[in-house]
Amino acid sequence: MITIKDFNFKDKKALIRVDFNVPLNDDFQVTDPTRITAAKPTITKILEDGGSCVLMSHLGRPKGMVDPKLSLSHIVQSVSDILGVKVKFVEDCIGEKAIEASNNLKPGEVLLLENLRFYKEEAAGDKEFAKKLAQLGDIYVNDAFGTAHRAHASTAIIAQFFENKKCFGLLLATEIESIEKVLNDSEKPVTAILGGAKVSSKIGIIKNILGKVDHIIIGGGMTFTFIKAQGGSIGDSLVEDDKLNLAIEILNEAKSKGTKIHLPIDAIVADAFDNSANTQVVPIDQIPTGWMGLDVGPKTNVGFSFIIAQSKTILWNGPLGVFEMKNFAKGTIELGNAIADATAEGAFSLVGGGDSVAAVKQFSFEHKVSYVSTGGGAMLEMLEGKTLPGIDAIMN
Ligand code: AMP
Repeated sequence: MITIKDFNFKDKKALIRVDFNVPLNDDFQVTDPTRITAAKPTITKILEDGGSCVLMSHLGRPKGMVDPKLSLSHIVQSVSDILGVKVKFVEDCIGEKAIEASNNLKPGEVLLLENLRFYKEEAAGDKEFAKKLAQLGDIYVNDAFGTAHRAHASTAIIAQFFENKKCFGLLLATEIESIEKVLNDSEKPVTAILGGAKVSSKIGIIKNILGKVDHIIIGGGMTFTFIKAQGGSIGDSLVEDDKLNLAIEILNEAKSKGTKIHLPIDAIVADAFDNSANTQVVPIDQIPTGWMGLDVGPKTNVGFSFIIAQSKTILWNGPLGVFEMKNFAKGTIELGNAIADATAEGAFSLVGGGDSVAAVKQFSFEHKVSYVSTGGGAMLEMLEGKTLPGIDAIMN
């Protein structure tokens, strides 16, 4: 894998695709700077080499036209503060102004371009647009994992204009290595925990990891499709009736491929989808009508924690219950504790994909796991075994 470590950037201008799609409040202040902080090591290395950085990113979904609310000018101060460098800004990402700003950039300086998605050509993967962007730097660096699954102009198409002058930034390289470490280069036993709402959104991952991991722990709403498929009573729990056959297929395929699937054995059930609903603990396959499973039960917690304690490599995607409500967060918290303990004992743990990252942050497990991925959709697609356009464009 070719990264910025393979280049000396002295007197070179790095054109870096970063993912600065950060949340802003009503006063246009950055409320979570994680994505900016994550790009800092790459930018710092280039500046320390004696190079300069032209940063390009999108922010929100402006639908191919200028939307002042989604201007990257709002984040210039935050980026400057985090990098410790006064960042320059240009109110376009292509054309004369952008070229002039890039030409004027001196070693040690950083320039942020305006939102790429103010042009519809960005998301369309337009080659001419990519060529215009390519004029702004000498070496192309992709450090935007969050958009690596998109074949956009700045994430993939642009790479063709930088033969032998394209590489991964440190963030993207670490993301790729972490997933490799779990799927292909892993210390056994490997355990994947898949939670969340629906089987349908995780099916691609399950299929790809069957045979590659030793254990799959299933939790969250998708549990009940598996339980119903095997003849259990699930009351009013979430279920995908069109996926019952698929659930049986997965269980059979797991057996033939040597992966053990672990389903919850008990559940905390509620008489309404509400934090203040009445609750009781029942066996997972004996949920009465009028009750729905919203978290795993205490016996399940013990069983899952036991498997995790034995694991040397752990992948966690998706909460085990409706963690947003305090009364149904326990399973997810206990799982996080078990993963944190295993990590402290030397296991490698990777957490990623949408809500599990939110859960990890909410319950402060962030620094107790080995790596928290910055990409939701991109990580899911990699776990599904897909080739991501942004990664392919650098590799090939
Ligand atoms: P996903 O985006 O697929 O990872 O799903 C995350 C969502 O699944 C969270 O908002 C959880 O509240 C929800 N979830 C987890 N367990 C359950 C459950 N037993 N019933 C309904 N929703 C659930």
